[in-house]
Amino acid sequence: MLKKTRSAVAVPTLRPPLPVAPTLKRLGVAIRSMELPAIEKIAEELMGDAFQVLISTMLSAQTKDPVTLAASLRLFAVAADPAALARLPLARIETLIYPVSFYRNKAVHLKETARILVKDFGGQVPTTMEALLTLPGVGRKTANLTLIVACRSQDNICVDTHVHRIANRFGWVRTRTPEQTERALYEVAPRRWWATINLHLVTWGQHVCKPVFPQCGRCILNGTCPKLGVVREGRVA
Ligand code: SF4
Repeated sequence: MLKKTRSAVAVPTLRPPLPVAPTLKRLGVAIRSMELPAIEKIAEELMGDAFQVLISTMLSAQTKDPVTLAASLRLFAVAADPAALARLPLARIETLIYPVSFYRNKAVHLKETARILVKDFGGQVPTTMEALLTLPGVGRKTANLTLIVACRSQDNICVDTHVHRIANRFGWVRTRTPEQTERALYEVAPRRWWATINLHLVTWGQHVCKPVFPQCGRCILNGTCPKLGVVREGRVA
């Protein structure tokens, strides 16, 4: 097993940006043996149920994957559809989803979202970005991931902190916010990769290209990656 020590100072490189399609293709192979991110795992277990993908994605904001997964399964065991969730008392939702980050705010958003789905959308999750963004607590990241994972959309790119960070490290984009990264990626990434960028970069970001101390020494891209913005690499022994 690889033993991680603290860190090594990274030497700044002047390498060109990594090519987008070949890099995503390589990562697609490399992540096959890695654990799936929480939302993909939930979608796989729950047969891609759109409501449950939406709710799990809302729960996942600033929350670790195992916590999101456990909270989602506890909640869906009691309320598997919008009508059931809308009926649950707020305090019960809070108890079921604790300890996800901001669980009190999220409980309010979940209950209200469920109510709106029942009242305005016939109990179904809408399938357009515009409609999804009308739901409380739903931003572009949640809407894009719901469209990709639950609706099988090939027209969206979902950018979270992993995608934002790694796309900048690769030199694909030079951006300050995930929203800017999403816009820039539509320009530089071939369309056939849009829907899978999130899965590939989130998985890579959780296992190898970590936010702090990326594991460059065990990375298949070491040697070609420009590592833009990397200040210190994790050291592997
Ligand atoms: S771990 Fe290092 S070499 Fe690998 S993609 Fe991240 S920054 Fe590049």
